[in-house]
Amino acid sequence: TALTDALTGLRNRRGFEIDSSRYFRSGSVTPLFLLILDIDHFKLINDQYGHAAGDAVLTRVAGSVRNHEGAHGISARIGGEEFALALPAVDREGAEKAANLLREAIAAGRTPHEQTELQCTISLGIAQRQDGDDLASLCARADQALYVSKRAGRDRISWAVPSEEAGLAPMMT
Ligand code: GH3
Ligand code: MG
Ligand code: MG
Repeated sequence: TALTDALTGLRNRRGFEIDSSRYFRSGSVTPLFLLILDIDHFKLINDQYGHAAGDAVLTRVAGSVRNHEGAHGISARIGGEEFALALPAVDREGAEKAANLLREAIAAGRTPHEQTELQCTISLGIAQRQDGDDLASLCARADQALYVSKRAGRDRISWAVPSEEAGLAPMMT
């Protein structure tokens, strides 16, 4: 359907918007963490091994993202080599643990390709939903944190800076 990405079988961006929308209705108090992740130096894989090899890596990464949904998570492919994982009903430690487990699982994985095996890493940004957030504002903060991870050397996670405009700051424990 138009809500599913054909290559990976994950939700596409539209499917992600629809399935996560209930967490952004007014009055929703469920804790929600958003992970945005992007494959590191993915262009090199395409350039060195070809587009089909890149697609195989994307499919394997997508499988890892799905495997880290847990009971309530919502995963999606939101861009070319960019994924989102929304984790409701976890705490800050749980979200960070999930992010690191996902990062380690992807770094440890291998995609068979002809006579070799392809490896990749991901960079992640994590943001906690705050009072007043909509999906766009939460994504924007997670994206900024992802950019920090890229700048700091990739294959790592970074927390978003809480928004000061929001009425209720998240717990910073
Ligand atoms: P960075 O670590 O900064 O993220 O570097 P990068 O090379 O991953 O980032 P860049 O944005 O330069 O390249 C992303 C590449 O992803 C470029 C594009 O051709 C490729 N790509 C996007 N969608 C697909 C796809 O569906 N299949 C394949 N094989 N490649 C794709
Ligand atoms: Mg990339
Ligand atoms: Mg990218």
